[in-house]
Amino acid sequence: MVKSRFTPDERGYYGEFGGAFIPEMLMGNIQELQERYLEIVESEMFKSEFHSLLRDYSGRPTPLYPAMRLSEKYKTHVFLKREDLNHTGAHKINNCVGQVLLAEKLGKKRIIAETGAGQHGVATATVCALKGLECVVYMGALDVERQAPNVTKMKMLGATVVPVHSGNKTLKDATNEAMRDWISHPSDTHYIIGSVVGPHPYPDLVARLQSVISYEVAFQLDEKTGKPDPDVVIACVGGGSNAAGGFYAFLDNPDVKLIGAEAAGLGNETGESAATLALGRTGILHGSKSYLIQDIYGQVTEPYSISAGLDYPGIGPLHSHLYTTGRCRYLSITDQEALEAAMELTRMEGIIPALESAHAMAVLRKESFRPDENVVIILSGRGDKDMSTYSNYFKNEPDR
Ligand SMILES: *Cc1c(COP(=O)(O)O)cnc(C)c1O
Repeated sequence: MVKSRFTPDERGYYGEFGGAFIPEMLMGNIQELQERYLEIVESEMFKSEFHSLLRDYSGRPTPLYPAMRLSEKYKTHVFLKREDLNHTGAHKINNCVGQVLLAEKLGKKRIIAETGAGQHGVATATVCALKGLECVVYMGALDVERQAPNVTKMKMLGATVVPVHSGNKTLKDATNEAMRDWISHPSDTHYIIGSVVGPHPYPDLVARLQSVISYEVAFQLDEKTGKPDPDVVIACVGGGSNAAGGFYAFLDNPDVKLIGAEAAGLGNETGESAATLALGRTGILHGSKSYLIQDIYGQVTEPYSISAGLDYPGIGPLHSHLYTTGRCRYLSITDQEALEAAMELTRMEGIIPALESAHAMAVLRKESFRPDENVVIILSGRGDKDMSTYSNYFKNEPDR
């Protein structure tokens, strides 16, 4: 296997970021994963099962669509990687399919997960139904109320949804509860983390599973243009998994420009933002060392974004490393900019994006590209889940 500056060392460090900061009681579970994950996910048997399910169940490869009207407008070649066309509507299923196969190989019969907006919970419940595994999803009690349609989906899929009433009753509290569950069920349970966050080996595990996105891009771009490497790849960044997957195959080629889009909510100066790299400092959250939005006392502050999937105070350690080494640039995109970009994509290409993905689309207006460049934007998900937000926003708009 290729060693790169951007794969972690044995202790899970990307430069100074990463590691595994966990309570002693979790050491056994984490060590088992650390010792086994690479040998399993790199085995031919795993790869063949993983790619068969991605193809036959999730609908991969997802298209690489040359967006003709956007290309004309922005005077460059714009390609959209259509992760929105996956089963369940986003890239999250790639990771869940991979981790449920890993769990099987580890002999685990029970799956737990945490979820904020419910998207990762739905993807996890989906693969558990597929495999006939018991599934328990922890969700802040406030989120259970706010995300009723996803709660219904998870229950319909056979998962047990446990509302968490401690703390702010949101994602952080749900994560704590999932950890507690894992500590008390060490031998039969696998914990599926939904992004490139958490203690080693999760950031590397999830990046490898999501890397299918960029390997497909290379193959598809080569077919269409005769060159596998794009000039620019753009992706939105919450925890950072669709971006990690979209960048992965190109990390070691410095000629490929990488741009991450962070959610800046009402604006970085307003305090209502989730732009971790723009506003954060180094700290420890959910088992790893990375950038983190915190107050002067080191307390994590509540982030804000119109998009629930980007509303996270931390970021995966790989991205902190890509940021500090200058390998990737990260732009702050406000709610307003994302909404305008969502409208533009919808009206110009007939594709309604997830609010998260709209942050990546907004980069087109902020950067300039050469006419001969191939610009790939990872369209991480579809907009169905965001229709009530869109309808609130557009109800005052005149019909166009
Ligand atoms: C969850 C989600 C994200 C954010 O997660 P990452 O780990 O940063 O990719 C982005 N887009 C969509 C559609 C999502 O559901």
